[in-house]
Amino acid sequence: MGAAGPVGSGLTPAQQRTLADLFPGEQGLFDPESMLVYGMDACRQQCMPWAVVRPASETQLVELLRWAQAERVPLFPRARATNTVGGCVPAAGGVVVSLLLMNRILEIDDHDFVAVVEPGVITGVLQQAVEARGLFYPPDPASGRMSSIGGNVATCAGGMRALKYGVTRDHVLGLRAVLPGGKIIQTGGRTHKNVVGLDLTRLLVGSEGTLAIFSQIILKLQPKPQATASLLAAYASMDACLAASRAVFAAGLLPAAMEFMGEGMCRCLEQLMPPPRVPWPASTNAVLLLRLDGEAACLPAVLARAREAVLPWGPVFLEEAQGTAEEALWDIRRSINPASFKAGSKKLSDDVTLPRGKVLQALSRFEAMGEAEGVRVLFAGHLGDGNMHVSVMHEPGQEDAAARTKAAIQETTLALGGSLSGEHGIGLVKLGAVGRQLGEEERRLMHQIKHAFDPLGILNPGKAY
Ligand SMILES: Cc1cc2nc3c(=O)[nH]c(=O)nc-3n(C[C@H](O)[C@H](O)[C@H](O)COP(=O)(O)OP(=O)(O)OC[C@H]3O[C@@H](n4cnc5c(N)ncnc54)[C@H](O)[C@@H]3O)c2cc1C
Repeated sequence: MGAAGPVGSGLTPAQQRTLADLFPGEQGLFDPESMLVYGMDACRQQCMPWAVVRPASETQLVELLRWAQAERVPLFPRARATNTVGGCVPAAGGVVVSLLLMNRILEIDDHDFVAVVEPGVITGVLQQAVEARGLFYPPDPASGRMSSIGGNVATCAGGMRALKYGVTRDHVLGLRAVLPGGKIIQTGGRTHKNVVGLDLTRLLVGSEGTLAIFSQIILKLQPKPQATASLLAAYASMDACLAASRAVFAAGLLPAAMEFMGEGMCRCLEQLMPPPRVPWPASTNAVLLLRLDGEAACLPAVLARAREAVLPWGPVFLEEAQGTAEEALWDIRRSINPASFKAGSKKLSDDVTLPRGKVLQALSRFEAMGEAEGVRVLFAGHLGDGNMHVSVMHEPGQEDAAARTKAAIQETTLALGGSLSGEHGIGLVKLGAVGRQLGEEERRLMHQIKHAFDPLGILNPGKAY
């Protein structure tokens, strides 16, 4: 955890009084003890906010943004704070705006195939609500039981099903958002196609809280696939495992999810969830996990084709599962974060994305870089779209070695034509590296866009680009 910023308010007594009037009772927090938790997110850096406000309506949001612009007070939007890059940290001080009281599902429409929600709705709650109506909202970040739709939209969250269904951006049809100064904009709408004007919706999705605060989100839904089935294939080598993954595509299959766990991660999972919870044998050094979905009657045949595709690469273990047994396999995948701490008490993580054909080359190099620095490099993640979660595990005293390894991983990723982040974003933590991926002219344009939305730079300043 980073050192806490100065305790005490950067607000004048008059400003604090105005905020307390705008946000009465527990909607406004001003004492350090209640505010402490609002100063950090899952990146574990911390700065003490000047105040925390919890708007319950768009009207309150408008008042807040009007006031903040007039008073030049920085605002830091925040939802469930599961982001791993400091996107919610009130660096340099300001007012944290928690959107969690704006948490109503306003509409689920099975004729238009849309859901209209407030930003604080929990992703998993929306998924359950639409699935109860035979509908489907595909984006499924591994944090989905905790994260919010507003946070997912602001980060353009990905997840396991992105391989087949796309990321959050592909499912946002329209937004209502409040700009610094208090104006409301409405982008897109509830039609599934729309090419009128520049696509402000796509610009706002993934803007990491730097351009506007979303007050309402229109999401695209689709019919729920009738059934799913999963296949876990364990291999003695990473090469065989990745070759098997290519064979699945070559067989003409597009799984809903294709996940991978490398050797180090397999060892950590075995410690966290000893056999039989982790079903593979000790000879396993790489695991491929596929989820297939579609019509129940067709799935056995599709599963058989997937099995035929991976068999020639010599798996040491195969398991096919449906229903409860299937979820037990995915619980293993969802446990990679806690499991990683079996390899070290400290972690530097990245969610680099490689061109899909370069994954094997990249992972072999990452492993060697860790060995050279005496730290453990673990990888696992969304193999199907090349988005790898790479964790540099280390102990106190190895911080420099870990930082050098992380920098080398980023350098190699860029040299192979990859991206510094596939889904977690840049936030505060990766800002220093962004100039290595984005050109000067592109960043200048991004800063001009920021200026057009937020001329005084009060919204989540010092983040993202
Ligand atoms: C265990 C774990 C697993 C994860 N797995 C995945 C994964 O598979 N895929 C993935 O993409 N991410 C993943 N993440 C990262 C994280 O969950 C996502 O980035 C998620 O979208 C953040 O949602 P949140 O509600 O926590 O938002 P927060 O973390 O609170 O906020 C995220 C960003 O959105 C901004 N923001 C929040 N609400 C609004 C709003 N209403 N208007 C404007 N800006 C706003 C904030 O300022 C911040 O910059 C994971 C994180 C953890 C801890």
